[in-house]
Amino acid sequence: MKRFALKTYGCQMNVYDADTLRTALLRSGWEESDDDSAAVVIYTGCSIRDKAEHKIWSDLGRHAETWKRSGRPVVAVTGCIAQNIGKDILGRFPWVRVVSGPRSIGLLPDALAQALTGGECIDLRDRDASAYHAIGVPPVERENRWKAHVTIAHGCDNFCTYCIVPYVRGRFLSRAPREILDEIRQLVATGVREITLLGQNVNSYGADFSDGYRFSALLRDAASIAGVDRLRFVTSHPKDFTADICDAMDDCATICPSINLPIQSGSDRILALMNRSYTLERYTATIEMIRDRFPDAGVTSDLIVGFPGETEVDFNASVDALRRFRFDLVHTAAYSPRSGTVAATMDGQLPEEEKNRRLNYVNDLQRGIALEINKSLVGKRFSILLDGFAPRGEDTLQGRTDTDKVVLLRGGRGEDLGRFALVEISEADHWCLHGSLIRFLD
Ligand code: SF4
Repeated sequence: MKRFALKTYGCQMNVYDADTLRTALLRSGWEESDDDSAAVVIYTGCSIRDKAEHKIWSDLGRHAETWKRSGRPVVAVTGCIAQNIGKDILGRFPWVRVVSGPRSIGLLPDALAQALTGGECIDLRDRDASAYHAIGVPPVERENRWKAHVTIAHGCDNFCTYCIVPYVRGRFLSRAPREILDEIRQLVATGVREITLLGQNVNSYGADFSDGYRFSALLRDAASIAGVDRLRFVTSHPKDFTADICDAMDDCATICPSINLPIQSGSDRILALMNRSYTLERYTATIEMIRDRFPDAGVTSDLIVGFPGETEVDFNASVDALRRFRFDLVHTAAYSPRSGTVAATMDGQLPEEEKNRRLNYVNDLQRGIALEINKSLVGKRFSILLDGFAPRGEDTLQGRTDTDKVVLLRGGRGEDLGRFALVEISEADHWCLHGSLIRFLD
């Protein structure tokens, strides 16, 4: 029996890729194991920020002496992290036997089997940014039995100046609707109740088709599949979020009123430097459209502070935007230069201390806003899908509202996972709600 260990660091896109690879390997007779008994250890990770890269460097460094000396296990580094730093990894750890880019995932099962038989390092870094080698299996071997992500498009052509994705994940390519819908059906057949459609910019899904089939059509088709109790989507791009998406949400009860719309900056000058292709005015119009149609929708955002050249005036525009839009949650980050991107070479790079000061300020502000919003929900009732144990507390289950609020439920039992529960909110933190069970809904 060939054994593999899979170590995944990073975003949902990498988790999805890792789950499809796991499924493909298990289906072709491999067995999953821990590092010690694995014949092959596979790393996959996200290169959008440098955190995952640091983890992989440090893990390889920690094992280097033993793995090099014993000649086992076979080590593979895959995904966008390998596309970005695979060459450097091979330079420092020549005993790594496989490197593979995200668009070559379909070639991996054969490459891993071949690497077990010895021979030269197999270098499958993507050389054609438009080609894609599909792996052709649904990600049914996952950690969470009730929720699954489904990638609907690969790559990105937007070239935001701070972002490495277009360089490591290649050109935008929509998956065929039939393929996506079949995958959802297969996931539902294994007990999945909540599907999240995944892409760097889901709103531009279908822009590369000639038949006019667009994201809103995919939403409608996915929502109509029997057994899909909840349908979500991430990430939206403000320049491409159109009214037909709201129409689909309005018409299909299973599409959750929960939208992540990254603002990134409240300053038009910085948005232009970021190449985001929208202004604050346009962003405002989109948020107003969403909130007019869905007043109770959960709206989250992403914000970068300390982008090159960001003045105090620009920063204050972002602060004002947070106060004005009152998002439920904001993924904040201090700008960090990624080698190869346009912004990394821009003038006006800010010192780390200043970026951290700005980050701390917006985090404090946003924590307060989120807490106020969450406190206003105390006493209200929500349906949640119980999808796991809370990070701390074995007797506490967690689930999410359709608006994507985390709710912790004390006294839950493992056998209730995967069920919908009606809960009443009793307390609120800035990052979660606490609820008590009214009754199960199924
Ligand atoms: S839309 Fe911009 S930030 Fe998002 S993946 Fe594409 S280039 Fe990166």
